[in-house]
Amino acid sequence: MPNVSERRACRVLQQARSTQRHRPRIRDDEARLTQRIIELACAYGRYGYRRIAALLRREGWRVNHKRVERIWRQAGLKVPKKQPKRGRIWLNDGSCVRHRPTHKDHVWAYDFLHARTHDGRPLRMLAVVDEYTRECLAIDVARRLSSEDVLERLAWLFATRGVPEYIRSDNGSEFTAQVVREWLARTEVKTLYIEPGSPWENGYVESFNGKLRDELLNGEIFYTLLEAKVLIERWRREYNTVRPHSSLDYQPPAPDSIEIGVTVAPGHVQGATEHPWQRHPSASPSLGELHDDYSACRRCALGDTRTNFVFGTGNPEADVMFVGEAPGRDEDVQGEPFVGRAGQLLNKILEAIGFTRDEVYIANILKCRPPGNRDPQPTEIVACEPILQRQIELIRPLILCSLGSFAAKMLLQTSTGITRLRGRIHEYRGIPLVPTFHPAALLRNAQWKRPTWEDVQLLRREYDRLRGEAPLKGSAS
Ligand code: SF4
Repeated sequence: MPNVSERRACRVLQQARSTQRHRPRIRDDEARLTQRIIELACAYGRYGYRRIAALLRREGWRVNHKRVERIWRQAGLKVPKKQPKRGRIWLNDGSCVRHRPTHKDHVWAYDFLHARTHDGRPLRMLAVVDEYTRECLAIDVARRLSSEDVLERLAWLFATRGVPEYIRSDNGSEFTAQVVREWLARTEVKTLYIEPGSPWENGYVESFNGKLRDELLNGEIFYTLLEAKVLIERWRREYNTVRPHSSLDYQPPAPDSIEIGVTVAPGHVQGATEHPWQRHPSASPSLGELHDDYSACRRCALGDTRTNFVFGTGNPEADVMFVGEAPGRDEDVQGEPFVGRAGQLLNKILEAIGFTRDEVYIANILKCRPPGNRDPQPTEIVACEPILQRQIELIRPLILCSLGSFAAKMLLQTSTGITRLRGRIHEYRGIPLVPTFHPAALLRNAQWKRPTWEDVQLLRREYDRLRGEAPLKGSAS
């Protein structure tokens, strides 16, 4: 250490002495804020610090982007790379620069994306966005998409949302399909074509595609088409309702544009999916209020074909919760889950492990009956999932038991089948979960009774162990 006075050193360095003496003040909430920033950065892997700052402010933190940036860098978080700039050669009349959107439903744009499932088979996606609001109106995912699929999607959007003034798209093979051109002409929607090979002229949807690729497609392995549909639909909802958009002053494109009670296309989920408790997070509803909030739900097309909304049954303070698939005919008529033959078998299983039906809580992943008891569609599962999530949050069971493949896959966010999932204890948001076969499957396949018996015994053992450790509900904390 050279023997130089502070005064002299500062003079040489041309630095004010007060700067030298300044001691940074660490605020009380620094550790909590750092923790939250890391959590958000992990949850939204490709968001930069400005977008994370917007999310924090929405959560109630009083922070500016500079403080978030400082912590971001200290924590060694990655600042996403900027997109490389692209040169522009010229712009034709259909380009988004020449013909800008000026209001909601002024210009919609659509485009196709390509990806592959893990086995190398192709995935095609049709994305439709409202250029002004930036809302993503739909992403259809399939192995193949034809002009008929484009027509079906556009027709449904026109019927449910209204007809836009213009539709902007690539002038490629999909759009040149004569049937689409003629149909749009008949509906009096004007078309804006971009020059071939000039994606920058369709900038809004191209920008959207980039985000979808960056935040989901580039980082996710899809093992099945179903898994891709569910994950892409979930990302689309998050994009519309949660993700801060830099050109919208860090607000999401459609925070509460859609009301419950509006019907959506068969097999498709509505654009934004705001829920009553999300609008008023402080007003945590009871189970009864949750039921009332959703009893007229039309968030998927099953709302139009059901007889009764089948919410759930049993003890709202239950320690054990069973989650099945969807109401069948008897359940649809009576408005209660598991009342048919499968329900009687479930009652016997419960008795065998020392529970009564009134002691536990029973619900399904879908609250409305799929016509003809067909399998739940991915978009129906995504639309209905928040209701079940909220039920579980309100009941706070010690242990969960999923019945059948769909419930296990949804709760565990996996594409693995029930035969490989069963026999072990998994975890759903910190709650132990035992997957087993659906009672209806046992009625068809007697050989699954034994593994089911083993699973429910495992459930009972784990429940007894947890009860030994956890305080009884209602006891002083
Ligand atoms: S299945 Fe669920 S999301 Fe669909 S209408 Fe019924 S309650 Fe609403």
